[in-house]
Amino acid sequence: MNVHTSIPLKNYTSMQLGGPARFMSDVMTIDELHQVIVNAQSRNIPFFVLGSGSNVIARDDGYEGLVVRVRIPGFEVIAEDSQTVTIKVGAGEIWDEIVARTVDMNLTGIEALSDIPSYCGAAPIQNIGAYGQEIADTLTSLEAYDTTSGHIVALSREDCKFTYRDSIFRTDARGRYIITSITLELYKSTPEPPFYKALQEYFDSHGITVYTPQAVREAVSAIRHEKLPDPAVKPNSGSFFKNAIIEQWQLDELLAEYPSAPHYAMDENRHKVPTGWLIEQCGLKGKLLHGMRVNPANALVLINESAASYNDLSLARDKIIQAVQDTFKITLEQEPLEIV
Ligand code: NAP
Repeated sequence: MNVHTSIPLKNYTSMQLGGPARFMSDVMTIDELHQVIVNAQSRNIPFFVLGSGSNVIARDDGYEGLVVRVRIPGFEVIAEDSQTVTIKVGAGEIWDEIVARTVDMNLTGIEALSDIPSYCGAAPIQNIGAYGQEIADTLTSLEAYDTTSGHIVALSREDCKFTYRDSIFRTDARGRYIITSITLELYKSTPEPPFYKALQEYFDSHGITVYTPQAVREAVSAIRHEKLPDPAVKPNSGSFFKNAIIEQWQLDELLAEYPSAPHYAMDENRHKVPTGWLIEQCGLKGKLLHGMRVNPANALVLINESAASYNDLSLARDKIIQAVQDTFKITLEQEPLEIV
């Protein structure tokens, strides 16, 4: 286990912004994790757990603490019956490699979550979701290091309090648990329609009528490559805002003015309105704001084209939030967490 000092966070976040972290450590085992955390706690040094850096933003003054990168490996089939296979995966495994592996096993459950840049331990934090699947659908439990007790605890799906792109790890228990492994229950069946429009259109245009996990994975990868900029070429953090979740009365008001506004029913009489559409209606799609490009292919993504700092990003973000607020009276929420 190594502890490095003064590490530029812009090299570790896909938006490529941010000052230095005072300390950074990669841990390969639970024992190493325990050691670095106890050490930091005994010196009153704050810590932040960093995954692939694709859904976090670093600020210009960096982080006056320890950034921990959990690289604990592991892949194990722990149960199987006639319909399901349950796998336990180390937090340090690369998410898409695990998706590929389960697809090769002909299992369904996470194939629509293909190509999401993440480590497995980070996937539950924001309840990653795409094309109608979210990790909450298949995650049965996870293990985490509880930084308040110093012990490993098992948390059930219910304990994680998953909601739309959110979980206890971003809310009530933020900073308390460090996920060390996740357990997923996947199905031996085939993916069932109806599919998201983009997916169905891909199947139709490619003459695909047999829906296998592999077919969904290939379709999702192809669609994502077309619509989402590669962070290695165009620095970005994926969806920069969550989709807007609004009440029935807000939807009624929206539809009165914009009858063709896209919307999808959620639970409890609430509705999802694609934030990309809201931003586009404000005339911001494709615009360059303080060095941040509102992605011309998908206005939900902000690309760091020439931003000099986090400050530029925050000015662009606030401009977008204000425009949507003024036009629709809807308050957008940033999706990536900030390293603070
Ligand atoms: P899109 O197909 O242009 O659709 C815009 C939004 O409408 C999506 O975000 C999606 O919400 C919602 N939507 C579309 N069809 C829906 C349906 N049948 N039922 C319910 N909601 C529907 O989306 P996109 O921006 O290109 O993204 C495609 C998928 O990749 C989405 O699922 C998106 O969440 C996911 N994605 C996630 C991230 C991330 O960082 N978390 C980044 C990029 C893309 P949902 O987002 O709830 O699916």
